[in-house]
Amino acid sequence: MKCPNCGGQNPNYRRKCQYCGTYLDRPALSSAVESLRNQLLAMSLSSEDLYTVCFALGIDWHELEQDLDEAGLTDMLARMLDNHGRIDEASHFLHDFRFPQGYPPLATPYADNVWLTYVFACQNVTTAEQLAKLCEEAELGDAHNLPGQSLPHKLREVFRVAQRHDRMVPVYEWLAKLEPQQGLQRSRRRRQRR
Ligand SMILES: [Zn+2]
Repeated sequence: MKCPNCGGQNPNYRRKCQYCGTYLDRPALSSAVESLRNQLLAMSLSSEDLYTVCFALGIDWHELEQDLDEAGLTDMLARMLDNHGRIDEASHFLHDFRFPQGYPPLATPYADNVWLTYVFACQNVTTAEQLAKLCEEAELGDAHNLPGQSLPHKLREVFRVAQRHDRMVPVYEWLAKLEPQQGLQRSRRRRQRR
């Protein structure tokens, strides 16, 4: 998509030109993209929820412009997924999607699965002190500077920084040292029942 003001090339999903900020006339949504957008809208997601969905899909949520409302962000995300050729995949993915709080307690982090490791982190990192300790141990900078509204949102940012700086191994190792209270209690109860 070419900017009418400066002539810069922008991806099709962009609302404003990344070079000069001019509003762009985006193409109309195809029916497949529109139905994915409607699927997302039906989930009534907050902007933080949308960023979490992006994270789960392995998409950089910082690409979404910050000045949009939830409907605008949803529209943008559907366009971004279209741009990546992932409409069908995302549609199936969303049918089964659960936020971290929807999972049963996990017993361990998953070294080969960033999303489930994140879910484990959300379940077991419950204080600002723990978050600060995680950042310190993995050398990820000051936890006080993390954006986001709550611990899960701040953890999402921690994971992003760790991925970017190739620091997932220390994150995983620190998390693996946590003792998941609920997960252990569950299996013990199950054993007693037999
Ligand atoms: Zn421009």
